[in-house]
Amino acid sequence: MEKVRKVVIIGSGPAGYTAAIYACRAGLNPVLVTGNQLGGQLTTTPEIENWPGRNDNPDGISLMQSLQKHATDLGTEFIYESVEKAKLKGTEKVLTLSGGNEIRAKSIIICTGASVRYLGLESEEQYKGHGVSACATCDGFFFRNKDVAVVGGGSAAFVEALYLAGLCNKVYLIHRRDSFRAENALVKRLTELSKTGKVEFILNANVDSIIGDGNKVTGIRVVTTTGLCTVDVEGVFVAIGHNANTQVFEGQLELYSDGVIKTGFTTQTSTSVKGVFAAGDCADRVYKQAITSAGSGCMAALDAEHYLQELS
Ligand code: FAD
Ligand code: NAP
Repeated sequence: MEKVRKVVIIGSGPAGYTAAIYACRAGLNPVLVTGNQLGGQLTTTPEIENWPGRNDNPDGISLMQSLQKHATDLGTEFIYESVEKAKLKGTEKVLTLSGGNEIRAKSIIICTGASVRYLGLESEEQYKGHGVSACATCDGFFFRNKDVAVVGGGSAAFVEALYLAGLCNKVYLIHRRDSFRAENALVKRLTELSKTGKVEFILNANVDSIIGDGNKVTGIRVVTTTGLCTVDVEGVFVAIGHNANTQVFEGQLELYSDGVIKTGFTTQTSTSVKGVFAAGDCADRVYKQAITSAGSGCMAALDAEHYLQELS
């Protein structure tokens, strides 16, 4: 009979590794299923400037390797597969892995993160990391005093545009409609800034392609009501939403309409199913930062520890 684990953590981003570190120290002998993206989203960025204590700006891969080493040294067992199916209700949870095996556990910590939604253009793919970004907090610094474009009309796009307006020469906000999903207060602030010429709205505009010289972005081509036009920019920030990686849990857990896992039922990281906890971007609609993910990973491990104590 296959043994029932105390806790299985799903995902190897900052939330998953931090949950593993705390679970090890609580004596829970955690198993961590890494998923396809070992180290999570941060591994796609060349420089991290806001991880506390690391003002040497580590690259995402080495930072995440150090988190993995920490979790490994404390005794985490790793499974380099993905969870393809989950049966979460009841006291014994069953996960089916991509290799076909099943793993059973008394508690589960879901840290499956989110995937940035991109426009899906070939040219966008070509210039990712060479002028196309989805994170102004992370990459805005590289475009100081330059002209950039932000694509999107939600709060994230407005927050990105406001942040970039403090760094860049000019920010174009490109949106496919002429009304916004973004909070009023954000729209007001950016509209005020547009009066200074620092920000310009290009509305009813669909992105046709990103233009570049083969190495880096030089502009963005948009289709507007008056035809095709090119805007000269060196950076393009895509802010058209994120997709939480939670498809596997549909029908098992209460999710918001955008797929984000609902938490806060009993403890902060508890989900709608007892013994199942969620941390990081998969359960976050606001902050979506590495450090907040790590922080909630810690909370989820502590919540799982208390749950297991109550079970026994
Ligand atoms: P993620 O990092 O998204 O990791 C999710 C993990 O879950 C992955 O390991 C994946 O393989 C795994 N997974 C998914 N589905 C399954 C499954 N079915 N089975 C098993 N495993 C699964 N934040 C900052 O604070 N500073 C920055 O400088 C910064 N730069 C960024 C740059 C870029 C380009 C991007 C995209 C994001 C950046 N962020 C930054 C945001 C930060 O990366 C995220 O907030 C953070 O990584 C979220 O951590 P997480 O652990 O919740 O999930
Ligand atoms: P969002 O609210 O879903 O907005 C996404 C925007 O991108 C929309 O304007 C949408 O256009 C546009 N869009 C989507 N797909 C597109 C495509 N293929 N091509 C062009 N444009 C596309 O996402 P978000 O801005 O990331 O916000 C997510 C959640 O976090 C929201 O609940 C938001 O309130 C919250 N948030 C809050 C703050 C804050 O400071 N309060 C900051 C960031 C995020 P349409 O409008 O035409 O659909």
